[in-house]
Amino acid sequence: MYRSHSCGELRIEDINQEVTLSGWVQKLRDKGFMMWVDLRDRYGVTQLIFDEERTPKEMMEKASKLGREFVIQVKGTVIERVSKNPNMPTGDVEILVSELTILNAAELPPFTIEDETDGGEDLRMKYRYLDIRRNPVKNKLIFRSKVAMEVRKFLSEKGFIEVETPVLIKSTPEGARDFVVPSRMNEGQFYALPQSPQTFKQLLMVGGMDKYFQIVKCFRDEDLRADRQPEFTQIDCEMAFVEQEDILNIFEDFTRHLIKEVKGVDVTEFPRMTYAEAMQKYGNDKPDIRFGMEFGELKDLAKNKGFNVFDQQELVVGISVPGAAGFTRKEIDKLIDWVKRPQIGANGLVWVKYNEDGSLKSSVDKFYSEADLKEWAERTGAKAGDLILVMAGETDKTRTQLSALRMHLGNEMGLRKSDEFAPLWVVDFPLLEWDEDTKRYHAMHHPFTSPKPEDIDLLDTDPGKVRANAYDLVLNGNEIGGGSIRIHDKNTQAMMFRHLGFTPEEAKAQFGFLMDAFQYGAPPHGGIAFGFDRLVAILGGQETIRDYIAFPKNNSGRDVMIDAPAKIDEEQLKELSLKLTSES
Ligand code: ASP
Repeated sequence: MYRSHSCGELRIEDINQEVTLSGWVQKLRDKGFMMWVDLRDRYGVTQLIFDEERTPKEMMEKASKLGREFVIQVKGTVIERVSKNPNMPTGDVEILVSELTILNAAELPPFTIEDETDGGEDLRMKYRYLDIRRNPVKNKLIFRSKVAMEVRKFLSEKGFIEVETPVLIKSTPEGARDFVVPSRMNEGQFYALPQSPQTFKQLLMVGGMDKYFQIVKCFRDEDLRADRQPEFTQIDCEMAFVEQEDILNIFEDFTRHLIKEVKGVDVTEFPRMTYAEAMQKYGNDKPDIRFGMEFGELKDLAKNKGFNVFDQQELVVGISVPGAAGFTRKEIDKLIDWVKRPQIGANGLVWVKYNEDGSLKSSVDKFYSEADLKEWAERTGAKAGDLILVMAGETDKTRTQLSALRMHLGNEMGLRKSDEFAPLWVVDFPLLEWDEDTKRYHAMHHPFTSPKPEDIDLLDTDPGKVRANAYDLVLNGNEIGGGSIRIHDKNTQAMMFRHLGFTPEEAKAQFGFLMDAFQYGAPPHGGIAFGFDRLVAILGGQETIRDYIAFPKNNSGRDVMIDAPAKIDEEQLKELSLKLTSES
């Protein structure tokens, strides 16, 4: 028996007990005649004491050879500590060791295994198994497991069945590139790894499963923008005989349940906003509504006053920054520089100070009177003491830029509080999105999403205007889930593929299995998928997902611990009938 107790378990009531503990040496303090060792396992830390007067000499010697991260087993008696440590759950006691076994010696770790480590990100990733011993990482993995349990609990209670779907499949378009796997048994042919189990969950509905879920790995070969992973986890769900309203209701309850169970916070409101409104008010389809600063459009107020810059632009739009009228010239210049950086790409900012005394002062005083500026203040919801920042340009671009500024200010001014949860549904997404590169429409969600029946006629005349039965669940400025009501008849699906530029032959080759299935009694159905990594990170009060993943990949998609991806040898290439074109 390696242990009778964990290292986080013993308390003052356990005094005089004989115990056996196993774990890692966290820390050593050697005073020669007396020695203390902090012994750690997943559950906590317990102090061991070796003392010349009470500990046999050989064991004192053995103990003096211990090093950090040695794996040891000790037997001993629980005694009361002379100097107690109120910061440690086990801080009232220590173990007077009577037997010490070194189970495994350890090299000196490349960084300190402590909450505040001296190891940089790269080093920690290379030795992730050591990083995981640290509380901040360990606790995040435990937290993730807890959230997963709650997910399973809620969905099982609602009658969802967890079904696994295959990983070696044929491409499912979710807007990214596929990872592909060559098939040895089928020369020259490839599997694709699922970007999501989308088609399978729909087929499960045709199969009569009625309510499906799966916590599942998905794979997308994208350029890794900040905080994306090529393989990530979704909570994937699908339901039959449902309308959009049914899905929104059940997954509102689901989200409420998770926030309550893991954070103890009651969220009551799940406001709904159309995509068009989200773009107009926040310049963003995943607005953070924890703070105001809604956009106010000013073009009609600002035009024809002699200020050419505004006259010429499609959109003039501003936000009011609460309490910021006192910003210095230098602070405002810093914001102007911030929006002019290539990442944002704005031309500049016009500012209006709505001073505490009610007067208004702006960078465009030459063109606008105080009365004009007062109207801007009304439009942007500014009060005395606020600062109005205005941008102008092409509509979509300007909205995106002002949204970036809004979020930047939200962060800078501490308005995005991690213990506040503000979910909302964004609904009525466009069905199609124009892609400048390929000069054609793409499905904004995916090709299986149903158009709103009342918009179907627009497909031929003004495809960009067609709205979809698609929805996103947004939490604190992050899209945490997205889904849609699906097309469930062959003809509509074929029409959709046609609009997406597939020939009937291409559609049949790629998705014939789905359209065939629709001929055998497909029920109306719809679903949603949550990005599990991000959801966990947000519930944990953080925005980066990497720490919540046991073995994440870096920004180049590499696992630096196992050193993957890696070359494969000639023999393997031959077996797979593959030839590399260039020596890389
Ligand atoms: N398959 C979709 C996605 O991965 C989610 C859904 O439509 O249910 O975003």
